[in-house]
Amino acid sequence: MIPVNEPLLTGNEKKYLTECIETGWISSEGSFVKKFEKQFAQKVDRKYGIAVSSGTAALDIAIKSLGIDVNDEVIMPTFTIISCITQIIRAGAKPVFIDSNPITWNMNVKQIEAKITKMTKAIMIVHIYGLPVDMQLIMNLAKKYKLKIIEDAAQMHGQTYKGKMCGSFGDISTFSFYPNKHITSGEGGMIVTNNKKLAEKCRSYRNLCFQAHKRFVHEELGWNYRITNMQAAVGLAQLENLDKHIQRKREIGKLYNKYLKEIKTIQLPLPKTNYAENIYWVYGIVLKNEIKLTVDEVIAKLKAEKIGTRPFFYPMHKQPVFNKQNMFLNEKYPVAENLAKKGFYIPSGLGITNEQIKTVSQILRKILK
Ligand SMILES: *Cc1c(COP(=O)(O)O)cnc(C)c1O
Repeated sequence: MIPVNEPLLTGNEKKYLTECIETGWISSEGSFVKKFEKQFAQKVDRKYGIAVSSGTAALDIAIKSLGIDVNDEVIMPTFTIISCITQIIRAGAKPVFIDSNPITWNMNVKQIEAKITKMTKAIMIVHIYGLPVDMQLIMNLAKKYKLKIIEDAAQMHGQTYKGKMCGSFGDISTFSFYPNKHITSGEGGMIVTNNKKLAEKCRSYRNLCFQAHKRFVHEELGWNYRITNMQAAVGLAQLENLDKHIQRKREIGKLYNKYLKEIKTIQLPLPKTNYAENIYWVYGIVLKNEIKLTVDEVIAKLKAEKIGTRPFFYPMHKQPVFNKQNMFLNEKYPVAENLAKKGFYIPSGLGITNEQIKTVSQILRKILK
């Protein structure tokens, strides 16, 4: 079996983890948490890092910390993961969707301004699959309309937009360290910001809003979204290898580009734009209209050859959990819908070998010819 993702744990992970166990520091109080926060924030050019238990937790806290509340509108891509929207919905706020760009698969920034109203409070950016969102227009709009920016950079550790680190654009930005990300802590996430007050709020929401002086007296509701010292130990070791990981991801992407480029029935990831070079968080493939096979059929054929895949995201406006409540029923975002229908990704984790990349490509060529 060639799994869709296999992480690479070849740095100081074992050494740091052993230190946690030998010293007995395994909870969120251990020193690796602070080290990981500091070094990660530095790496992405931010002042503050708040490590949490997942990328989803990071997004929940980020949205809460900006005060997004009942009836506020948040502009966001429909083509994303459910993590981006849950706290918006739970807060009683309203997501306002933007369709995707068919080439970059990111949100189509040209559609944003028309969706801004008096109720708009924030724009949520989600960098998709390896290329960043085209940020310039969004930064201008945020300034013009005084909107907050939440930047979900869960797929973008180490990526840049016009030379500036992804994760440094939002009023608040978030990362995930799930095992298929560029660096992992098993499970984990990070919030980064330059705003001291926001950072303090996030720390409080992460830790149930316990108070320093009256510990069990609460002025607000938070979560237990703490990360353990063991997770931070692994995360820190991974961070030391981030540049190498990004370099390897680009090699993986380029090999697939080379092996797959002559298949005319599929669209491959865009290698670069004038603002960034792809880091291939995943290696996505979109079936063109002329091919008769469905994504499910291609995925089944690959599975029969022992190759793991995942389908692309399913758009937020089509999610049954919302449609059942009569939400977003008449909304249409044709590009995102097409990506969901025709897109899937193939094995490209850091643990993959060049030989495996070749094998996957050969089988894919056979299936799609
Ligand atoms: C992975 C991911 C998340 C969720 O992170 P978890 O750590 O799995 O909770 C959120 N947003 C994006 C864009 C992601 O890719």
